[in-house]
Amino acid sequence: MNEYDTNRIFDTVKEIGFNKTSNIEEANCYLLNTCHIRDKAKEKVYHEIGRVREVFKSKKKPIVIVAGCVAQAENDQMLKREPYIDIVIGPQSYHKINKKIEDFLKKQSKIDETEFDTILKFDYLNKIENSSNKISSFLTIQEGCDKFCNFCVVPYTRGPEYSRPFNEIIEEAKILASNGVREITLLGQNVNAYKNNNYKLSNLILEIEKIPEIERIRYTTSHPRDMTDDLLEIYGVSKKLMPLVHLPVQSGSDKVLKLMNRKHTIKDYHVIYDKLKEINPLIQFSSDFIIAYPGEDEDDFKETLKLINKIKFINSFSFIFSPRPGTAASELKLIEKKISLQRLQIIQKELFNHQINMNKSLENKIIEVLVENKTKKNSKYFGRTEYMTPVIFNASHKDMGKVIKVKVTNYNQNTLFGEKVEKSKLRVA
Ligand code: SF4
Repeated sequence: MNEYDTNRIFDTVKEIGFNKTSNIEEANCYLLNTCHIRDKAKEKVYHEIGRVREVFKSKKKPIVIVAGCVAQAENDQMLKREPYIDIVIGPQSYHKINKKIEDFLKKQSKIDETEFDTILKFDYLNKIENSSNKISSFLTIQEGCDKFCNFCVVPYTRGPEYSRPFNEIIEEAKILASNGVREITLLGQNVNAYKNNNYKLSNLILEIEKIPEIERIRYTTSHPRDMTDDLLEIYGVSKKLMPLVHLPVQSGSDKVLKLMNRKHTIKDYHVIYDKLKEINPLIQFSSDFIIAYPGEDEDDFKETLKLINKIKFINSFSFIFSPRPGTAASELKLIEKKISLQRLQIIQKELFNHQINMNKSLENKIIEVLVENKTKKNSKYFGRTEYMTPVIFNASHKDMGKVIKVKVTNYNQNTLFGEKVEKSKLRVA
């Protein structure tokens, strides 16, 4: 979501004359868009600002802005601790960024802007064309969360659930298509909780599918509780919705899910899995796991392993629990570090096995790849399979933005390697 937000911030500050630069030394405004999900996010921000100060130590200082969820969580504390920062601006306030920069230039006094103005933000952004022209681009449709999982900062940093108006999203998707975008990933902290009047995520997918230039549609991140039947059913209807479902489960134990306040059970998860596999057996799953959540015992951990081996997730994120200040889980007693690490290693080994088995099963097969860009190192091309797996292959510039057939010749855990298959060499059934 920060990638989408950063692009929209660039679209906004263009209006007051700022342009992107890849040379930090020539910047007269430096903006750091931050994420609070990962461990030690706050310290990383101070470290980065220290690095910027070093770059400018014998030059005129740029305006330094910290945006995003760390800014939201830390706000005035940040301005007090690091005087090099001039403006902090939360993720729901960045539509005000031009005014804040101008105010700062006039008065030279520090600015803390961390209100939740989500509706006004999207009203404002809607008037500024999205300039993203990457073959695969993000489109935010929903923000915030009302679920309050005990470990998560999102409800505090992004605010309550908000869904953008349906027509606004379709218009933005059309603009992206005309910019050259061929794959759209619909974004939201709870993307499948999207609801605007009677429109749901399934309606959005089917409407975007009508845009001829768009070849592929994805969405992330979803919550098991919001995997409604209408959404499951479109996997049997849609021609452009990709068959990879990223559905965070966090733990395989109902006891731990309850401790986390996840509001779903493992049975719910299995029901979704079974329904989707019945609709399309080729659908694969990826997920997120928090290992060694306070209260997780050996049996709970084994339940997570069992789930992983049943679903055979093809690509997942797994981390040891680390507390986020201000959340309900922040004061809980941590599991011993050695045990946590052992559990993570076991889990990751299983997850990696499933990932590599999936890649191995594709060796010598012909797969469909959306060509995204040319690699820097060896003049090969980069794209992704329907399941998001990166592919490096020989192709030509005219293939950019097209879905082409690639024969897989090699693989490793994360990547497939191959050759474009010319149409003339494809056998016709
Ligand atoms: S549903 Fe997702 S975004 Fe919301 S609190 Fe839970 S983990 Fe955070």
